[in-house]
Amino acid sequence: MKIAVLPGDGIGTEIVAEAVKVLQALDLKFAMETAPVGGAAYEAAGHPLPESTLQLAKEADAILFGAVGDWKYDTLDRPLRPEQAILGLRKALGLFANFRPAICYEQLTHASSLKPELVAGLDILIIRELTGDIYFGQPRGRRTAVDGHFPGAEEAFDTMRYSRPEIERIARVAFEAARKRGKKVTSVDKANVLETFQFWKDVVTEVHQDYPDVQLEHMYVDNAAMQLVKKPKAFDVIVTGNMFGDILSDEASMLTGSIGMLPSASLNDRKQGLYEPSHGSAPDIAGKGVANPLATILSAAMMLRFSLNQAEAADRIEKAVQTVLAQGLRTPDIYSEGTTKVGTVQMGDAVVKALG
Ligand code: NAD
Repeated sequence: MKIAVLPGDGIGTEIVAEAVKVLQALDLKFAMETAPVGGAAYEAAGHPLPESTLQLAKEADAILFGAVGDWKYDTLDRPLRPEQAILGLRKALGLFANFRPAICYEQLTHASSLKPELVAGLDILIIRELTGDIYFGQPRGRRTAVDGHFPGAEEAFDTMRYSRPEIERIARVAFEAARKRGKKVTSVDKANVLETFQFWKDVVTEVHQDYPDVQLEHMYVDNAAMQLVKKPKAFDVIVTGNMFGDILSDEASMLTGSIGMLPSASLNDRKQGLYEPSHGSAPDIAGKGVANPLATILSAAMMLRFSLNQAEAADRIEKAVQTVLAQGLRTPDIYSEGTTKVGTVQMGDAVVKALG
């Protein structure tokens, strides 16, 4: 088993170092190889995803990714910007299923902006389709309008599209995931207005016939956005397209209080995956030793479970994270009175110690 370790920029290097420390402490048999990505790779090799990094990622069973980006690269041509590395990896590896759990740990209930009783015990999983939809549909661009409300005016347009196989495979991923959890899938669409999402709904309903043990409900995206803040615990697995998933998964992440706690996984059909925290490179706190490494450590646990077949080791990490929270250790982003403030490295050390 081989893990490609791509720390990236900003706090990426700090938080990945802690996750690597935790993985090494498990004493499992796998090789880890590190390569630059994002702004760091642009500095070193003139490209955010150099050929050597891409090659390593392709050969690996899993990729542990930190974060990329810094405002100083915002003026570069788009293909050279750090964020392009993620899009490049998704495309090259066919990573079509994005898993974003939103779990509210008992000890952090107060950190949510919602009332504690609404989020205590929250454990939902958002599965976002990652390669289709309006983000990638062609044609797209700018032109002179020939019809519409202002013929002759400059206009811009994008194309929303989904093919049957794309919907089928993400629906299967969602039903399979629900089978291992609360056995309920909410498929989020906008079938009342969009042809693409009427088709989405029809195909998800067809695929559901193979999963009679899983409950399926359909929900319009506007209602889903509302229900997520009204009654989030009513959800188990949410499956949706690329754009709705992008927005809803960020909304859900805030239910839990801190983005520094949330892992994510992007998988292809060979169970090869890219594992990263849900947050970015946080240039505002980079280098200060205060970033919360738990999202990355929990991403490493997801990696062990989904790509490396090491569910027991994944459980050990997740339990260790709960232990350090129960001990009252907090990085500044989740700190509250009566708890103990620690830095990035101390938090990583505490998780290693709690592995037992
Ligand atoms: P961000 O997620 O980096 O930061 C948002 C806020 O959350 C900041 O105040 C930051 O300090 C805080 N934060 C984030 N992670 C934290 C952690 N682990 N511990 C404590 N606090 C944390 O988002 P942003 O500021 O909008 O973007 C910064 C850069 O990151 C940009 O260049 C952006 O393009 C990039 N970005 C990268 C990814 C990725 O690599 N997948 C995702 C989002 C943003």
